[in-house]
Amino acid sequence: MSDTMQSVDSGVAAYATELRREIHRHPELGFEEVRTAAVVERELDALGIEHRRVAKTGVVGLIRGGTPGRTIGLRADMDALPIDEESGEPFSSQVSGCMHACGHDAHTAMLLGAARVLQSERATLSGNVVLLFQPAEEGPGGALPMIEAGVMDVEPRIEAVAMLHVDVRLDVGGISITPGPVNAAADEFSVTIRGAGGHGAAPHKALDTIPCAAATVLALQNIAARETDPLASVVVTIGTIAGGYRNNVIADSVKFGGTVRTTDPTVRDGMEVRLRRIVDGVAGAYGCAAELDVIYGYPPVVNDPGLARAFTRHVRQTTPIVVHALAPTMGAEDFAYFAQRVPGLLVRLGVRDEVGGIVHNAHSSRFRIDERAIPVGIATLVSFARGVGSGAVPLTA
Ligand SMILES: [Zn+2]
Ligand SMILES: [Zn+2]
Repeated sequence: MSDTMQSVDSGVAAYATELRREIHRHPELGFEEVRTAAVVERELDALGIEHRRVAKTGVVGLIRGGTPGRTIGLRADMDALPIDEESGEPFSSQVSGCMHACGHDAHTAMLLGAARVLQSERATLSGNVVLLFQPAEEGPGGALPMIEAGVMDVEPRIEAVAMLHVDVRLDVGGISITPGPVNAAADEFSVTIRGAGGHGAAPHKALDTIPCAAATVLALQNIAARETDPLASVVVTIGTIAGGYRNNVIADSVKFGGTVRTTDPTVRDGMEVRLRRIVDGVAGAYGCAAELDVIYGYPPVVNDPGLARAFTRHVRQTTPIVVHALAPTMGAEDFAYFAQRVPGLLVRLGVRDEVGGIVHNAHSSRFRIDERAIPVGIATLVSFARGVGSGAVPLTA
């Protein structure tokens, strides 16, 4: 750990840690990050970094390097969650019902720390660094509005993009870079089955939607169990189901809904057709009618494989940071939209400290991070900017 911490100046680590605590005390939900965006702007002004507002509460900063090179994007999300904090931290949330339980406070602070380092060396920096402070990752999503506002289209154009996400599976001091899919697409669907109600004692005079719904729910599991390559990752979860009036009345309709998680874009593309075939087919077999609505969410995050391998080598050669390659998770992350447009990397940052009791998962009211991870995260972002900007890390392997 001590070696790793030395890879960033202790003044920068203290600066980012202070900011992280300030942001942690004042969490804000998606597109309400008014105070957080103001903190970001205040710090960028103090550092002499040009910036502008996009997508309501998003902030984009630009560091122009003094020598030619690639333009890279570094992204941090800024929003919190509607959770009452129970972490016990002395700098706990001062807003009841709102908490930084996903570490976005640390993401924002680490990006400011990296900005401070990169701005201080801008005269010799190769290429440019675009700082993407993004709102509303937890929903409804701020990445797409930022892209629609043109952040990927203005000059200098971003050629590669990276982000950090704190990860409590990984001990503090380490990071994880996994080539290929690292997060899942999160799409939702709802189904309404319609039949005809009637007396519970006379099923032959009705069209019962409950057995039809039960059969449909079971049949949908075939998508994962029988229709998808066992080495591809698919989850079909039915999270809600409702229908009927009372025990002796046949239900004339049943509604249920769920989420579908996939990591492979081609598997995801075929999902709506499969859902529809099963829902319509089972309903038809039971003499019922069915409606299906699919609501597409974030796409999967796919780390550019060549960039992932090249950057892993670079970090190992130029920093003391320990690089792992954790398995993907079926969670979702709207950084996916940035990584669809240019080679992208989602880097996981270890924040676990078993001895200190820092073991609670993100989105828990007891979530904490080991702040010794902050200089590791800053060093990772700085390394990406220097390495990819200068061409030491090639974009095509
Ligand atoms: Zn989250
Ligand atoms: Zn998050």
